[in-house]
Amino acid sequence: MQSPFAQKSLLYYTEPVLTLLARPSFIEPDHLRVKWLGESTDGEKLAEFAGRLCYMSQKNPASRATRDYLENIKKQGHGSVLEHANYSLLLEGVSRSLTHELVRHRAGFAYSQLSQRYVDESEANFVVPPAIVGDEILENEWRAQIDEAQRSYVRLVEHLMERYGWVADKVHRRKMAREAARGVLPNSTETKIVVTANARAWRTMLELRASEGAELEIRRCAVEMIKLLSKESPAFFSDFEIYQADDRREAARIVYHKV
Ligand SMILES: Cc1cc2nc3c(=O)[nH]c(=O)nc-3n(C[C@H](O)[C@H](O)[C@H](O)COP(=O)(O)OP(=O)(O)OC[C@H]3O[C@@H](n4cnc5c(N)ncnc54)[C@H](O)[C@@H]3O)c2cc1C
Repeated sequence: MQSPFAQKSLLYYTEPVLTLLARPSFIEPDHLRVKWLGESTDGEKLAEFAGRLCYMSQKNPASRATRDYLENIKKQGHGSVLEHANYSLLLEGVSRSLTHELVRHRAGFAYSQLSQRYVDESEANFVVPPAIVGDEILENEWRAQIDEAQRSYVRLVEHLMERYGWVADKVHRRKMAREAARGVLPNSTETKIVVTANARAWRTMLELRASEGAELEIRRCAVEMIKLLSKESPAFFSDFEIYQADDRREAARIVYHKV
């Protein structure tokens, strides 16, 4: 049998877990066929198709490969063409403070996040702030507070369930208890969120949040998102350059900045 400490230690995330949930699926219309060149994904084809429709240039007079075509689109700043391609990611192992910052990005984004009013957080997971990871004294100090906060949450839920015992609807009573008790849960509480955005919106957010000025946890997550998305669609995301910053952590900068 595992010791309680070993079980507990499994609950501390030290990095985000990202899963690609959805990508575009392009269906080419028979009556407007494009002369495609080079390798591409469905999302990239969709954006090229949309761009070419503007000038009815499906014959590809300049003989451009899809990725060269989209490179030029980014260079020219024609971002609206990139808005047709949407990607959905599931983020786990991220803190409530990270998602609080993330959801500030509104244009082109959609979010669905775990509800602390409905979900029992008595066995919540937590995310160790990156600056604390690897320092035993800091980790112990942080964990002591986290553990106490979680115990307090459990006590509060129990007492609130008793206090509002007269509320007949048990689901409603639990919600009343959890929404009040969550007040003692820290920013480091782990959460899960589904994030959908179009390629243009992803680029804008990632440029801001992968930069050296961004908070460390969201910056680490943004760098991981860039790695995932640039594999998924090089034409949309490969102009991000990931580098080791002076603070010895990864950051990223973009070639085609859109103002
Ligand atoms: C390093 C960093 C530090 C930050 N620190 C703080 C902080 O201390 N406090 C704080 O409150 N926030 C902070 N933020 C969040 C920041 O203020 C923005 O809320 C966040 O970056 C999202 O930017 P946005 O509104 O441009 O994005 P989006 O909402 O995605 O908007 C994108 C663009 O669409 C247009 N747009 C969107 N909505 C409107 C609208 N309603 N009216 C007109 N134009 C619109 C604008 O051109 C906007 O730039 C910080 C962000 C970063 C990156």
